[in-house]
Amino acid sequence: MSRTVLVTGGNRGIGLSIAQAFAKQGDQVAVTHRGSGAPDGLYGVQCDITDPAAVDAAFTQVEKELGPVEILVANAGITDDTLLLRMKEEQFTSVVDTNLTGAWRCAKRASSKMLRAKFGRIVFISSVTGLYGNAGQTNYAASKAGLVGLARSITRELGSRNITANVVAPGFVETDMTAELPVAQREAYAKAIPAGRFATGEEVASAVCWLASEGAGYVTGAVIPVDGGMGMGH
Ligand code: NDP
Repeated sequence: MSRTVLVTGGNRGIGLSIAQAFAKQGDQVAVTHRGSGAPDGLYGVQCDITDPAAVDAAFTQVEKELGPVEILVANAGITDDTLLLRMKEEQFTSVVDTNLTGAWRCAKRASSKMLRAKFGRIVFISSVTGLYGNAGQTNYAASKAGLVGLARSITRELGSRNITANVVAPGFVETDMTAELPVAQREAYAKAIPAGRFATGEEVASAVCWLASEGAGYVTGAVIPVDGGMGMGH
């Protein structure tokens, strides 16, 4: 059965791997982008998730073209790292506004149609950092930890309506975000990962697709690590 999927930030990186995995299963997949356009085979909507009106317009466009969003993957995210004492107020609030409030905006907009359909799957892309902490990432870690409370509260509000809300917490994944890391730091991180390497986007995507599947209908409020053992189940 083909379902309508929306992946925020699905134009590149982990989001693109997720979008392609759903498309490969035969689902109708829309991705948000901020001007880059959509990769081949995916339906693109321009949307900055920090703008509530843009979020509403993107959902309206997807609903018109592909039907109501049945599976939402809140993936779009940013980093703006520096140590606590050096971090400016704006660096904290902008990361939280994108990673946490942006995900909340999308989940809120998706939920009314999911309630009507009596079906919905919401997956938030968090990070091992949200559970483990990381020096230099107070803003990012706080935003990613917040997604756990968000998913669990949605589970309590909407769980009886056949809507699940879960969190996938990747470790380090090969994307533009981690390409920015200095080589020595990448090597140090890889040594701390029991699997001994960074993940591929496809490895994150397969956990997301499973959470969105019929078979995972009783899994909700969960945090699924995809981190090569880095967080030991957290
Ligand atoms: P990338 O930097 O490669 O891509 C980020 C994506 O988010 C892009 O599509 C970008 O759009 C989009 N985005 C950023 N800000 C906004 C915004 N305000 N509105 C709409 N879209 C936005 O990141 P990754 O693919 O590496 O990361 C994807 C998610 O996975 C993020 O939430 C990240 O925190 C998380 N994650 C990543 C890990 C990693 O090791 N890479 C590890 C753990 C978690 P645009 O192209 O327009 O810039």
